[in-house]
Amino acid sequence: MIDPPSPPPARERFLGAERTFDEAIIALFGCPYDGTVSFRSGARQGPAAIREFSDVLETYSPELGADLGDVSFCDLGDLALAEARVEQNLEIISAEARRIFSSGKIPFALGGEHLVSLPLILAALESHPDLVVFQWDAHADLRGDYEGADFSHATVMRRVAEAVGNEGLVQFGIRSGTREEWEWMKDNRTVKPLDPDHVMAAVTEKQGRPVYLSVDLDVLDPSVCPGTGTPEPGGSSFANLAACIYALRRSGVPIIALDVVELAPGIDPTGMSAAAAAKVVRELLISLRV
Ligand code: MN
Ligand code: MN
Repeated sequence: MIDPPSPPPARERFLGAERTFDEAIIALFGCPYDGTVSFRSGARQGPAAIREFSDVLETYSPELGADLGDVSFCDLGDLALAEARVEQNLEIISAEARRIFSSGKIPFALGGEHLVSLPLILAALESHPDLVVFQWDAHADLRGDYEGADFSHATVMRRVAEAVGNEGLVQFGIRSGTREEWEWMKDNRTVKPLDPDHVMAAVTEKQGRPVYLSVDLDVLDPSVCPGTGTPEPGGSSFANLAACIYALRRSGVPIIALDVVELAPGIDPTGMSAAAAAKVVRELLISLRV
């Protein structure tokens, strides 16, 4: 009897992450947390799956004509986030973001559920008071509270708006929300279609203010990325999402921090969702090269 081959060891770092923290400008790190998820959990496994599936990609992006080797980035691994206490986890994420900002670097978080964006955005606001948040998402995430909780993936952008101001939030690709959330978005004119022209227009409208980019992967259509806790039909193609990333680069807007969240890889045994997530991360990294 020959033993079946053992699976390769899980990737500890994202594809091409060869630099140390001191050498890098962009610092990737995982936030494996899904403690407030309402429907289907599993986003805590997102960072590991993104790293694993980065292995199927090439380091070269033909659309951008550049390679991950041209990007000054490192992968710090995952933060140690327990499931139980929300506030404690937010504090751990916040401390890491502050450490990265204070070194003059760009934090790039891999979720985890969307709540992990909140401490990152609050930390970004400390060094960039004129910050604008670009949210790419199927869902408004604007509830005042959710099942009694102030801090949830369903309330995260309301908490963000309270911090950055309503005009500091631009929401792209939203196609799901309560009546109250839609009225709020209409009153504050925060919502736009996700396409390259609207991304460019928003950069112009906000006059080049620094941007925090938060990519909730459920902005993609479930046919592209079914591995997410709350799939919503009618979403973006992969090509359109990629075109929006390239538009951000062409706009020249300073992206001072970013995240890619809500991959729940266990829901999609084909691995297609994790592959899509890894490619989003690769294109974002290469877009951020200086
Ligand atoms: Mn979201
Ligand atoms: Mn969402």
